[in-house]
Amino acid sequence: MNGHHAWEDIVKLGASLFGRRLTFGRTGNISIRDGDRILITPTNTGLGSLAGTRPASIGIDGTHHDGPPPSKEAFLHAAMYRARPEALAVVHLHSTNAVAVSCLTGLDVADALPPLTAYYAMRVGRLPLLPYYRPGDPALRPVAEQAALRHHALLLANHGPIAAAADLSSAADVVEEIEETARIFLRLHGLQWNALTPAQIADIRSWRNPVSEPADA
Ligand SMILES: [Zn+2]
Repeated sequence: MNGHHAWEDIVKLGASLFGRRLTFGRTGNISIRDGDRILITPTNTGLGSLAGTRPASIGIDGTHHDGPPPSKEAFLHAAMYRARPEALAVVHLHSTNAVAVSCLTGLDVADALPPLTAYYAMRVGRLPLLPYYRPGDPALRPVAEQAALRHHALLLANHGPIAAAADLSSAADVVEEIEETARIFLRLHGLQWNALTPAQIADIRSWRNPVSEPADA
């Protein structure tokens, strides 16, 4: 992978996410993996302001290699890559509706959002809710790494979603699907609704394109 080209892709994705208010201020971070090196957005830089900046470079163990200081959440990206060797991109956002869901009581911590649509079932599957940790708390690292062994997308309580995928646009698709499904879920509050049944999900899994995102176990 060409590092410069990959960074330009992150700059473009950051501007797109920021422009659509899927991230705001200096929140959110994006990374790609190139062998043993991870290029990640620098700390204190909004995703809408990446043009003209340089990426931070960290190792798969999360240590800073070169470039500006990485996002304080870089350790979380490194944990996702260690757990999922096929993952080449990670996107983490504090998108409003997903954060709102992550604050609700009474969620199923093994699967925080119901499978409301076929696209959600295909792109996300199960979404575990991880406990709250203060931003940058390294105690989250083993918890996230363990959960990522079985799930490519995680929801951090009172914080937001993070997703790993084989490429940048797929990782963005997953967090955007979580955000939109969270929006629908909140809109359904107080109404009667149906989720897809296990049989309908099994049907989707047997029909889906085998080159798409691998299903969770
Ligand atoms: Zn965060």
